[in-house]
Amino acid sequence: MNDSQNSKPPAIGLEKDDWIAWLEDRGEPAFRAGQILDWLFRKRVDSFDAMTNLGAGLRAALADDFRVNSLQSLTQQGSIDTTTKLLFRLHDGRYIETVVIPASPALYGEKSDRRTLCVSSQVGCAYDCRFCASGLAGFTRNLDAGEIVGQILEAERIGGERINNLVFMGMGEPLANFRNLTKAIRIINAEWGVGIGARHLTISTSGLAPQIEKLAEEPLQIRLAISLHGASDEVRETIMPVNRKYPIDRLFEALQVWRSKKNQKITFEYILIEGVNDGLDQAALLAKRARSVRAKVNLIPYNTVEGLPWKRPTPRVQEAFLGLLKSQGVQATLRREKGHDIAAACGQLRLKQETEEGIVEAPAKA
Ligand code: SAH
Repeated sequence: MNDSQNSKPPAIGLEKDDWIAWLEDRGEPAFRAGQILDWLFRKRVDSFDAMTNLGAGLRAALADDFRVNSLQSLTQQGSIDTTTKLLFRLHDGRYIETVVIPASPALYGEKSDRRTLCVSSQVGCAYDCRFCASGLAGFTRNLDAGEIVGQILEAERIGGERINNLVFMGMGEPLANFRNLTKAIRIINAEWGVGIGARHLTISTSGLAPQIEKLAEEPLQIRLAISLHGASDEVRETIMPVNRKYPIDRLFEALQVWRSKKNQKITFEYILIEGVNDGLDQAALLAKRARSVRAKVNLIPYNTVEGLPWKRPTPRVQEAFLGLLKSQGVQATLRREKGHDIAAACGQLRLKQETEEGIVEAPAKA
């Protein structure tokens, strides 16, 4: 594939209105937008030539301007707990990872028929959370809407099963890529697009308060998860630099705005890190904070990241933390880890770069 083909935008990143405008420019009727979308999202063709109810001229024009999907699927790595990590190459040679979390049989704790995909929103991450692998090599660029949507289509093609739940908890800070994120969400949610209900879409953020307020204005009933990880500014600041820009009180103002617009419960993600944020004083503060916005709390025992010093607390400490939250009337769970053995668990996704020996992990930032 040559460079000009490489740089063509993915057709799956366009909304219905974009297609209508594109068709209008070519003197084509608007109803063709529905036909194109049907080929892309229902029939899932991989070339414009396969769109047999369109004329040859229109198919050629499509192929001149777009490619169907710009993600190149490289490897799939399965975990003993059934999660699968997918590695994709982007048109500019960058890499992203996506994690498939299949329905869990009763054997693995809670039985669920949710087939969840954990998608990336950026190449790398600029927020530099001290415990997370994704920020280690810094920030490279935003994903476009087609690259976000493409992760779902590729995961469904590879796995042969429809995804019915989506979490923006892969690489990157989704709210720092607001325009492309919201465009992707419209495509993912639409009947003419991927067709996943808004209630099955969760945006996870490190706490960008103004963008949370902006997202609250969007009409969809999407879910919000906050990576809290500390219940006082003092603790949160040591592990999440973003807290200096948006301290906890500012963040909670935004959460109140969110609550006034949405009726879904907010989730707090709280990684338990030994000796950092796992004290019962933090648990008590967290309980108070959670009650103030009626949030539920998802405790995540820290997943080790090579090159980072943190450890998870003992199960006894984890249970004590959970117990305190519950005793204060907070809905809380302790998450069973998934994908740890293939470094696909939360916070373990990081940039890859290719060398002559193949794909290797990008070096950690000094
Ligand atoms: N930037 C967004 C989305 C990516 S992180 C955000 O911060 O929410 C998705 C989840 O993985 C977050 O809750 C994040 O804090 C968590 N996470 C990061 N590193 C982790 C680690 N080493 N162990 C467990 N969870 C981790």
